[in-house]
Amino acid sequence: MEHKPLKEYWSKRDFKITSEPKGKVLAKEMDRFVVQEHWASHHHFDFRLEMDGVLKSWAVPKGIPYKKGLKRLAVQTEDHPISYIDFEGEIPEGQYGAGVVKIFDKGKYKLIRRNEKNLVFKLEGERIRGEYSLLKFKEPNQWLIFKLN
Ligand code: MN
Repeated sequence: MEHKPLKEYWSKRDFKITSEPKGKVLAKEMDRFVVQEHWASHHHFDFRLEMDGVLKSWAVPKGIPYKKGLKRLAVQTEDHPISYIDFEGEIPEGQYGAGVVKIFDKGKYKLIRRNEKNLVFKLEGERIRGEYSLLKFKEPNQWLIFKLN
């Protein structure tokens, strides 16, 4: 999607104003995920996976499905820095994504399969557990997330 993984993230934010981390691309262990609940102009959940030195990110309006067979829309958003995995707080009015962010769940994941249009992984969180798939169904950034097991 981009050569500089965090360029879009940085360009959308003023770090003198928001308390979100500026962060950087890291080369380290890549096995955590987070789901952040975000009361922005539209309430949604942000699902993020540590991958390629950043947090690959999707906005999931209705949240990660708990039940096998449920499909939920997941819109891929800009890569976030790894340090965003711990972010909670209020993004000030006028800033991109203004509103409260709270961690809904966090844990480890195991990657099972990965290609350009499909990710399969097992989530081991406190609230969200099981095997999931993300499937890209429409360019440029429309995915579906569903529970396999
Ligand atoms: Mn968000």
